[in-house]
Amino acid sequence: MSEPIPFIDLATQRRRIAGEIDAAIARVLERGAYISGPDVAAFETKLATFCGARFAISCGNGTDAIQLALMAKGIGRGDAVLVPDFTFTATAEAVALVGATPVFTEVQAVDFNIDTGGLEAGVRAAKGQGLVPRAVIAVDLFGLSADYDALNAFCEANGLLLIADAAQSFGATFRGRKVGTLAPITTTSFFPAKPLGCYGDGGALLTDDAELAATLKSLRVHGQGSDKYDNIRIGMNSRLDTLQAAILSCKLDIFADEIDKRQIVAARYAEALGNKVITPTVPSDCVSVWAQYTIRIPDGRRDVVAANLKVAGIPTAIYYPRPLHRQTAYRHFPSGGALAVSDRLSGEVLSLPMHPYLDEAAQARIVAALD
Ligand SMILES: *Cc1c(COP(=O)(O)O)cnc(C)c1O
Repeated sequence: MSEPIPFIDLATQRRRIAGEIDAAIARVLERGAYISGPDVAAFETKLATFCGARFAISCGNGTDAIQLALMAKGIGRGDAVLVPDFTFTATAEAVALVGATPVFTEVQAVDFNIDTGGLEAGVRAAKGQGLVPRAVIAVDLFGLSADYDALNAFCEANGLLLIADAAQSFGATFRGRKVGTLAPITTTSFFPAKPLGCYGDGGALLTDDAELAATLKSLRVHGQGSDKYDNIRIGMNSRLDTLQAAILSCKLDIFADEIDKRQIVAARYAEALGNKVITPTVPSDCVSVWAQYTIRIPDGRRDVVAANLKVAGIPTAIYYPRPLHRQTAYRHFPSGGALAVSDRLSGEVLSLPMHPYLDEAAQARIVAALD
């Protein structure tokens, strides 16, 4: 029996930069500043430079990042925030945590992302419940950015704030512009399995707005003002660990190369699988970071295919088996429309092993097992 194929291979990356990472960790331990300090500031500058945003504000994780964005804009009780129905729970959870109401809207089968055509129905559903529509949170699912031209146009026309949940897409490009600069506020996550992941929890917000950046910096440390013990707003305790910042700095140095490697892996999948299953497509003027390589298997065959792959030693994952509007804690929230595409996708999607170090031989085994 050949080697087991990992779903995401963090060990190969670790071997590649073990020397750099171990030295960075040792430096933090020697210096003795475990919270904030120069390593966090240096990483924030590097992160902002990487994507071209003016400000990067790091925080505890990607869920907190969304919550901080909503808090900074004073979104809460009586407000509605439109979110795609087909996403990770955290997108809607952050909305509920600030006391606002998530309104689930339709997604597109072609790229799994929010369907701008469904936003109007979401606004109507919110108003029908006596809520004030305040914001849209777009999610760049599986690493491909949503259509930010259409989203910005809709949000501007309707007086809504656009937040980009880029937990899966940091490093991606939309029509020549990098994720982090596509919406007034972008949030991301450094959970280990994300394209840019640390060795624990971490997150960040990106913006060009100096005033918003200052508010976010206050909010992430208990709402502190210029006097540390005169807090000027209710905030959170949500800082990025200094160790994680040092680790992320090393990982960011090879991130562009890893994104290139992911393109090669995705292209090999597309070539080998294009005639067997529905493979994901990326518009020619966009670059996905392939947080997941998610195929679609229609006609109720998905679970059988996944079981066959498992027998062949190929791990797969289903993101997401249940859309938000069908989850226990969320089903009482309003929906904009029937959400038929979202329902259909949850029965068809299957994510295959995907990481920059997936070699041709392993991919050939995966492809063969799909026959
Ligand atoms: C991972 C993820 C989050 C949450 O990030 P954490 O760092 O785990 O809190 C939010 N939204 C999406 C779309 C995600 O994939």
